[in-house]
Order: sequence, then structure tokens, then C-alpha cells
Amino acid sequence: MLQHKLIQQSPSDWQHALAQAIREPAELLKLLDLPTELLPGSDTMTQQFPLRVPHSFVARMKKGDPHDPLLRQVLPLDAELDDVSGFGLDPVGDHNAIINRGLLQKYQGRVLIMTTAACAIHCRYCFRRHFPYSKQSSRQSLWQKICNEIEKDSNINEVILSGGDPLSLADTQLSQLIAMLEQLPQLKRLRIHTRYPIVLPQRINASLLEWLTQTRLNTIVVIHSNHANEFNAEVSAAMKKLKSTGTTLLNQTVLLRGVNDNIKALSQLSEELFDNGVLPYYLHLLDKVQGAAHFDVERKKAKHLIKEVRKLLPGYLVPQLVEEIAQAPYKQPL
Ligand SMILES: *Cc1c(COP(=O)(O)O)cnc(C)c1O
Ligand code: SF4
Repeated sequence: MLQHKLIQQSPSDWQHALAQAIREPAELLKLLDLPTELLPGSDTMTQQFPLRVPHSFVARMKKGDPHDPLLRQVLPLDAELDDVSGFGLDPVGDHNAIINRGLLQKYQGRVLIMTTAACAIHCRYCFRRHFPYSKQSSRQSLWQKICNEIEKDSNINEVILSGGDPLSLADTQLSQLIAMLEQLPQLKRLRIHTRYPIVLPQRINASLLEWLTQTRLNTIVVIHSNHANEFNAEVSAAMKKLKSTGTTLLNQTVLLRGVNDNIKALSQLSEELFDNGVLPYYLHLLDKVQGAAHFDVERKKAKHLIKEVRKLLPGYLVPQLVEEIAQAPYKQPL
């Protein structure tokens, strides 16, 4: 819906590319020369959480390989309908952390603004797949209220833009929001959690680079990449541009069965990130969200993997293995 509105205003290249993202599982399989037998037997889960994947991301998948690590992240499967005990609708306690519509605080000193419900890609394992995003994401009309709320707690010195994906918003909107945040003297840092540089690198355009360069706030862009195959020349160029603004680049990864749950995939990802000026930040254990149990990696295996990665890489290329526990004061290292 939001996307539609933006396109009516003034479509830029990335908005066109986003509008053309693939939404039909059958079309995705066809593009990859894969048989339609891989289609889920039911479309219940795509009604709840539709397929969405930009062409640019699909182009990095290997044709004819049903186990491609990029494909696994987006292809709906019947396994999503399994009711697995321990997997719920709000595994990370986001509901309890809402302090105002569109504003979440779990940890001291930093707050998270849910700027939009929209994402460039729909990751099947996403912990927010059941979250009533559109009800909880902030609207422009609420931004002032959010700023007033932040101002009340002088300990808050960092704002995280999240969503959905904050870069789904147009640059005019983002620069407005940032201008409002800049007026709060207590704020030092602006952090942006986004998958765009990876899944739709076109998004890193001149207007984005302009507000990112100009803000007085110290900026951190936390990308989300799960596999080295997600990088290509276009992504590398986007990272270089981001880096040129002086922003700190970090990455978070979700440990996913069948995608990156092996030593080679994890160490290659760290190497690839560093080649692109990005430091590994977190390796998250899967949040136990209903419909994602088939991606789960046992804690014991996760700990083993990270131990082995430690033997291969310098310390700064080893991400912190963490899990999110509702109501805990920080993400818990394993
Ligand atoms: C993950 C998260 C953060 C960020 O935590 P860091 O450890 O600072 O990266 C902040 N707020 C919320 C609500 C979060 O879920
Ligand atoms: S981009 Fe992030 S928020 Fe959006 S579906 Fe993927 S994991 Fe979830």
C-alpha cells in the first residue's frame, strides 16, 4: 500500500525495481529452471505473508538448484504450516516493548522506531511475520509524538530506524524524520537496520547518500546478509558508496538451517563482508516464530559452529552469537 503511494508521487529507479519484485512462487521457480513440484501444496502461508523478492536478488541464485541458500530464504514451503511447540506469534516480546505507537524500547539508552511495515524482500524466517506491523509502524503524523517521547528520557542517545525496512520510505520522508531527530540534543547516534543494500542495491542512490552524509548524528548502517553469495559487483558498489559517507557498516546474520549452518558458509560470509568494508556484528539464533521451525539450528550446533569459525578467522571477523529473550536487558550471548 505504502509502496503504491510512493510510486504515485515520483517513482525513482529503485521504486520501479521494487514494484517489479516477484510475488508469485511459480514465476520464481520458472526463472530458476526449477520444477513446479517444489511449489507448496497450500497457499495459506503466502496469503498470510506473501512471497516477495526483487529480480536483482534472484539473479544471484543458482539456476536449477532447489537448495540454493538465497532461494531457501524466500521460497514458501508447506513446512511453514507445521505447528511446532515453542514457536509462537511474538517470540521476542515486541508487544510488551511498545512505548508508543511505532516506538519500541527494550534496552537502555537506545530506542527503535518502526518506520514502515514494508520490506524489499520477505524472508520466510522473519520474526515479524506475524507482527501487526501496519498497525504498529509509525506514520509521519506520529513522528513529533515519538520525538517528544524520546526527549523525556535523557539517557537515550541512539535511535534505531527499523520496520519493516526503513529504506522503504522515500528519501524526502527519511530526511524529514532525521531533521526532527537531530533537534534532540541528547541524540548522538542514528542506526539504520536495513536489508536494502543487499537485496536491492539500487536503493543506495544519490539522495540517500546526501542525507546520510549531512546529518550531524554519528551513523551506523547495519545490513542483513546471511550468505556470501548475496554479494556481487552491484552490492559491492553500494557498500563502497555507503562507506564513503563515513558511516560505520555492520552486519547481522540469522543462523538458518539449510542456508548458512556450516563452517564454510559462515567463514566465507565474514571474509566477504570485510572485503566490502563491513564488520560482522551479530549471528542470531533463530527467533522462535511460528512457521519458521524448519530453519532452526540447535544451540549446541550453533555453539560448535562459532567455535570452529573462531579457529579460522581473526577475532574481528567472528560475529557474536546471540539469542533474543523477551524481557532480557540485552541480546544474550551464548
Ligand atoms: C535488537 C534491538 C536493539 C538493538 O540492540 P543492540 O544490542 O544495541 O544491537 C534495540 N532495540 C530493540 C527493540 C531491539 O530488538
Ligand atoms: S528484511 Fe528484515 S524485517 Fe523484512 S522480512 Fe526480511 S528479516 Fe524481516
